Amino acid sequence: MSASRLSELLLLPASSAANSDLKSERGVSCDGELPAPSEPHLVERATAAKKALGSRAMVLGHHYQRDEVIQFADITGDSFKLAQAAQANTSAEFIFFAGVHFMAESADILTSENQKVILPDLAAGCSMADMATAVQVDDCWNALEKFGVAGKTIPITYMNSSAAIKAFTGKNGGAVCTSSNAERAMNWAFSKGEKVLFLPDQHLGRNTAVLKLGLKLSDCVIWNPWKTNGGLSDSEIQNAKVILWRGHCSVHGRFSMQNIEDMRGRVPGVKILVHPECTHEVVSNADVVGSTEAIIRTIEASEVGSKWAIGTELNLVQRLANTFKDREILFLDKTVCYCSTMNRIDLPHLVWAMESLVEGRLVNQISVEKEVAKHARLALERMLALP
Ligand code: SF4
Repeated sequence: MSASRLSELLLLPASSAANSDLKSERGVSCDGELPAPSEPHLVERATAAKKALGSRAMVLGHHYQRDEVIQFADITGDSFKLAQAAQANTSAEFIFFAGVHFMAESADILTSENQKVILPDLAAGCSMADMATAVQVDDCWNALEKFGVAGKTIPITYMNSSAAIKAFTGKNGGAVCTSSNAERAMNWAFSKGEKVLFLPDQHLGRNTAVLKLGLKLSDCVIWNPWKTNGGLSDSEIQNAKVILWRGHCSVHGRFSMQNIEDMRGRVPGVKILVHPECTHEVVSNADVVGSTEAIIRTIEASEVGSKWAIGTELNLVQRLANTFKDREILFLDKTVCYCSTMNRIDLPHLVWAMESLVEGRLVNQISVEKEVAKHARLALERMLALP
């Protein structure tokens, strides 16, 4: 592999964040009196507000959330499970989403019109989702049209994307996928077309194409939205089977081969369990690879006394270590690796959002524009109908 191609597989430069779409930066302040984090009665206040709201409200909590928030979740899960939970519950009028912005959008798309989705801190975005803006993706599609390949390309969009990108996908014959059904989604796409445009996570796309579908690394090219024609030549675009968007998760992208080697050297018999958002090198060298839900199931089914080093968000790994004390559960990286945007949903924000509602003020509602929601729902429904 050439040095330049290798560098494409590594993390994006920090400067790319500075170029992100400002509209996707969802605000940083709260309209109201946010309790101080040191306020000693936050748990009592959250308990009282939740009780006052009763069955009118439901709290959904992503597995990567802090313990202080997850204790108030009626349902915990990964983004897909939480979207399904939101869709299945037709009685709760208000859904507090303890997750990030794209998850709250998906919940709004999948729930009925009279249900309202609330994100306690609007700044809880996702750095990966922000790596593909609607304008950039339109530019990419226009370029693929110019090269004469758009008609035979099926877009597959990871759940971790904005509603606008899901809508683009729905409009152009594609489907959403999650880390647990990416293989089925990509196989479905290849039954409909000759190429796949996979966005925004290059790692999940590459790991699925190469490790699940048996394609070659050289069948995949990377579309860099900051370069003309994605930084690709005509022949690279014509020959590619999978066009990977140049995005990644800043949490899962941190795990490295060095982490794996250090861990195997330090803890004999340890099994490496990682999420498919990790790099191809890490995923290829792990013992077990799985989505967030699959990671939990793997640990639940593991033998007492077994040793696991897990490469996913630290809140979840700590919770698994605390729950399964009869196994040795370690964090794969040496340093702390929380999802900083997910962590913006803390107890003060949850208390503020719930108490506001008790007082009759709906704050931080996530509402997806009707036209966008219509096309995004199509892409989500195609995922739900995957063979
Ligand atoms: S863990 Fe990664 S993909 Fe998930 S919300 Fe955080 S930045 Fe986004």
